[in-house]
Amino acid sequence: MPSPSPVDPFSFFGHSLWIKRDDLLPEPFSGNKGRKFASLLADSFDGVQTLIGYGSPQSNSLYSLAALASRRGWQLEFYVDHIAASIYRGEEGNYGGALALGATVITVPEPNISPREYIESIRLKQMDADACLYVPEGGRCALARRGVHTLGREIADWAAARGVAHLNVFLPSGTGTTALYLSEYFHQQHCDIRVVTCPVVGDGDYLFDQFAELSADSHIYPEVVGDAHHYAKLKRDELEIWLAMRRQGLEFELLYDPCGLLVLKSLLDANAEGNWLYLHQGGLRGNVSMLPRYRRKFAQLFERDVA
Ligand SMILES: *Cc1c(COP(=O)(O)O)cnc(C)c1O
Repeated sequence: MPSPSPVDPFSFFGHSLWIKRDDLLPEPFSGNKGRKFASLLADSFDGVQTLIGYGSPQSNSLYSLAALASRRGWQLEFYVDHIAASIYRGEEGNYGGALALGATVITVPEPNISPREYIESIRLKQMDADACLYVPEGGRCALARRGVHTLGREIADWAAARGVAHLNVFLPSGTGTTALYLSEYFHQQHCDIRVVTCPVVGDGDYLFDQFAELSADSHIYPEVVGDAHHYAKLKRDELEIWLAMRRQGLEFELLYDPCGLLVLKSLLDANAEGNWLYLHQGGLRGNVSMLPRYRRKFAQLFERDVA
């Protein structure tokens, strides 16, 4: 087990905020996917030769699964809907980095079938069940529980050591897996720590459905705030808050954090009681493939910035 990621104090629009720096965990297993895939790295999986996943060809999941497969000597098959001709191929991005690690990225060969359906109804049936390991999108499965509970323990230990009471942990959600398992851990341990999240993909109802896929026990669910959100299309105020953080020396990723930071700001502006910790979930590798588009679209916002 690597040592706990650090927690830094941060001045967030006049509010004091703690930031849990999972972005500083050692590469290539830093950030959210490093936590969720920790048991895939550590456990023994006798006979497994192929790891199967799906999602976006630019995703953090693709890169993290590729790194994991390469470390374990497995072949990664990663299914996608579509690969844009203009996809960013540099090795410092998720896609190019995954190819360099030996991943096979496959466009679903049947028309009108999603990657998930293709894997579950066709591909897995062609394979020897013991030789492959299938990870649903974004690690939305019980395999993620242990790694996220480790994160929960780090936060609880830190709060106890510092005497931080009534802690609120905030993080933006995609599948909601991380927020759910964190909240579950704090409930199981009877910690005075509450998990608050916002939906970045879809709306609050979608997020509750995701929680329900992982746990039937609704009293452990995280608190959900914020409105439905357009994934992967940053609005001006989202890019502004991302740039403001970068000017303060903290770089965030561009899919989840801008939305999360804006929702957190409006929460704290309305009522800043208690102690708040924002979970920095890494994923900066994806930024190189997204920044050029935003730089063109919002050129004036970037003028004040050097890089
Ligand atoms: C995958 C990811 C998320 C979303 O995590 P969920 O557990 O799916 O909610 C958030 N932030 C980053 C940086 C990610 O890579």
